[in-house]
Amino acid sequence: MRYISTRGQAPVLNFEDVLLAGLASDGGLYVPENLPRFTQEEIASWAGLPYHELAFRVMRPFVTGSIPDADFKKILEETYGVFAHNAVAPLRQLNGNEWVLELFHGPTLAFKDFALQLLGRLLDYVLAKRNERVVIMGATSGDTGSAAIEGCKACDNVDIFIMHPHNRVSEVQRRQMTTIFGDNIHNIAIEGNFDDCQEMVKASFADQGFLKGTRLVAVNSINWARIMAQIVYYFHAALQLGGPARSVAFSVPTGNFGDIFAGYLARNMGLPISQLIVATNRNDILHRFMSGNQYVKGDLHPTLSPSMDIMVSSNFERLLFDLHGRNGAAIAGLMDTFKQGGGFSVEEDRWTEARKLFDSLAVNDEETCETIAEVYKECGELLDPHTAIGVRAARECRRSMAIPMVTLGTAHPVKFPEAVEKAGIGQAPALPPHLADLFQRDERCTVLANDLKTVQQFVAAHGNRGKPL
Ligand SMILES: *Cc1c(COP(=O)(O)O)cnc(C)c1O
Repeated sequence: MRYISTRGQAPVLNFEDVLLAGLASDGGLYVPENLPRFTQEEIASWAGLPYHELAFRVMRPFVTGSIPDADFKKILEETYGVFAHNAVAPLRQLNGNEWVLELFHGPTLAFKDFALQLLGRLLDYVLAKRNERVVIMGATSGDTGSAAIEGCKACDNVDIFIMHPHNRVSEVQRRQMTTIFGDNIHNIAIEGNFDDCQEMVKASFADQGFLKGTRLVAVNSINWARIMAQIVYYFHAALQLGGPARSVAFSVPTGNFGDIFAGYLARNMGLPISQLIVATNRNDILHRFMSGNQYVKGDLHPTLSPSMDIMVSSNFERLLFDLHGRNGAAIAGLMDTFKQGGGFSVEEDRWTEARKLFDSLAVNDEETCETIAEVYKECGELLDPHTAIGVRAARECRRSMAIPMVTLGTAHPVKFPEAVEKAGIGQAPALPPHLADLFQRDERCTVLANDLKTVQQFVAAHGNRGKPL
């Protein structure tokens, strides 16, 4: 498989190089040159397969030429073997034809484990073959950091540095990062906010001299491998609900348009999906586009669903690329306009095309808590705030009661006790067994000033399993 940039000016890469690349050199994002397409008979024949075997069939075309089948199978079996539920991504019924796809049975209790458990293993496989080491730098407001650390902790060839804003992530989220020890794991608490952390990651990608030749790898959702891994669970859910003979609708809590873009790809690969609902919190740039064709940067509002608190939606560029007939120059132009003026609209027919599949809703904190309480009362299911936003949007935007509606359950409620408490349900849920002693564990973390040089010196001094690069 070959990969091209959404802005049309970067070199065409194979899977291995895309895995190790961050942004394309022209500022764009990598996408497959040709999407694989499966027939209905082929998809139907996958019914009942264990998750890792389905994953092999769905993802195989994307890695062809870079990873031999036997090795890929083994990697996938290991990856999804660490999940705490045998079904890996079980469906939970809320109502007549309404479901939650539980994507929080991985080590860090959020859907990001699906991609980052795989990414860590793929990186180590590819790097061992190349006899190369890399450094990962990432910024996190919570979930990405712990999932990336869990995904990379066993990697022989990766040193990972995760920055979080000091005293500004929840205690569960912090402890999920700082209680994992290894000489290749480095937690940095920055005396600043999330944007300061992210700016330092961006600046480090732009000028990598401090790494003395070691390659820097991205773990946020601009990395194609993350999107690829998320396509699988759309197939998994649909097959449980009678697909592909029957079509299915999905509601997806999203900020960066990563998870829902994977659903869009699943559909283009042949899975009958009749509707995709973009569910946002008050940070609603995606909702404003889907409802009114305005892609305009707003102010950042902290919410009870912090993993979707974004101003700009990085993966949206991948959808825009398709909406514009895969014209890289058009996308480069749009992104330039966005950078200069903070917003754009697309031509009416392109927007109408998007609206054939996508609907959207923005849900505020009050409505989020209302929905947590409502669902708990209806069926005893306790939703995390992100999932609650998805369920709310599913109920308001649903086009057909006859088509199964699946909301992606992106996190376990125990990660966000504040929202559960505000919903007035009373006691917060208990930590699952593998994390039961989380609050008793030792922590390891370095607090650093909000200063690029200081951070880069720290990375250079510890980037080789705790030793200088
Ligand atoms: C990261 C995250 C999201 C949003 O994911 P996108 O990549 O923006 O689609 C939603 N919910 C939770 C719990 C998350 O951690």
